[in-house]
Amino acid sequence: MVSAVEATNEFLSRAMDALELPANMQEILREPQRALHVSVEVDLDDGEVHQFKGFRVQHNNIRGPYKGGLRYHPGLDADHAAALASLMTWKTAVVGVPFGGAKGGICIDPSKYSDAEVERITRKFVQGIAPIIGPTIDIPAPDMGTGAREMAWIMSEYEKFHGFSPGVVTGKPVELFGTPSRSEATGRGCWKVTEAALKKQGKKLKGATVVIQGFGNVGAHAAAFIHESGGKVIAVSDHNGGIIDRSGLDIPALRAHIADGGTIQDFGSPEVISNAELLLLDCDVLMPAAIGEVITGDNAGDLRCELIVEGANMPTTPDGDSILRDRGIMVVPDILANAGGVATSYFEWVQNLQYMLWGVDETRGKLDKLMAGAFDAVFDRADERTCSLRDAAFILGVERVARAAELRGIQ
Ligand code: GLU
Repeated sequence: MVSAVEATNEFLSRAMDALELPANMQEILREPQRALHVSVEVDLDDGEVHQFKGFRVQHNNIRGPYKGGLRYHPGLDADHAAALASLMTWKTAVVGVPFGGAKGGICIDPSKYSDAEVERITRKFVQGIAPIIGPTIDIPAPDMGTGAREMAWIMSEYEKFHGFSPGVVTGKPVELFGTPSRSEATGRGCWKVTEAALKKQGKKLKGATVVIQGFGNVGAHAAAFIHESGGKVIAVSDHNGGIIDRSGLDIPALRAHIADGGTIQDFGSPEVISNAELLLLDCDVLMPAAIGEVITGDNAGDLRCELIVEGANMPTTPDGDSILRDRGIMVVPDILANAGGVATSYFEWVQNLQYMLWGVDETRGKLDKLMAGAFDAVFDRADERTCSLRDAAFILGVERVARAAELRGIQ
């Protein structure tokens, strides 16, 4: 099994080789510029002091301030944070927002701690990373296990020493200078590129069958937009497993059921399945929107979809990807498919820097335009080079970062 960094570097190297970048430039683009390890020591509710491991990896800032989420997950380590930071560099470049790439977080299962403990842990972590973040330096955002609540704590902790600084973090609550469409934005972007990719396949989203792994912030919003446009979401899952309804799940009812404290499994669906089985369902679109490394060399040959839209980061391993390429299954890669989140983070940041507040229609409209334009640019590049959308997206991203590096010069 290759590590997360090795897997990302394999995709990256294919693009850098295709662009015939010199070895020294390849080295610069591969390596993170800075990685900070933070020891987060906190008093837990039982009075015991516990230490958590925190990370912030700043991969590249050639095109703009470092940007990327903070993940609270027991599987997070320095290698994962570095791989995800590198993906952010290519993601921000592909969609053309003026940021670099970073990622970080804490190795923790936040569901095991009280709200007050998570707040103390978050504030302590901010004290650790404070010297290297800031509105024009590095701007964190939500990722797995974090949301608007954590972003509010981060802003408030940072402001203790820097004064009013809403631009230090994005994905904040709307009442605290967040942008109203930020939480739906990654799912909305997934929906937009699904529509665009189906069109290239000569299909319409209306009536298309869609399977979504994960029903968190990305999967649930994507499902809602797809359902609204007449797509048939036939299966969804969470980490405990999935449900199927071949006539199409009632997504608004499922979301209301979950908002009322229900689970996917007790929604009363005719069939329940495991996450492994869900990936193999016959459908037009498969959207992995949960954890990474779920499409691998072991199952890629058995998938029965015609299009994959990567809502999650790194859901496909390099050997899985090579099988999908050979099978001619179209894959809209993570660095394009799930870029709606960071794109709307950009809109939030721009408003914060100018002390402006835009309406939902404005940010939604800007996002739709940006995602459609990025999809077309990647699709055209794939056409030109006769390569996969993943290779084309990396090529486009790498080309933009390499060009900016050349223009800046190294001093
Ligand atoms: N965590 C999200 C991602 O992986 C969003 C990052 C951001 O908005 O900065 O793209």
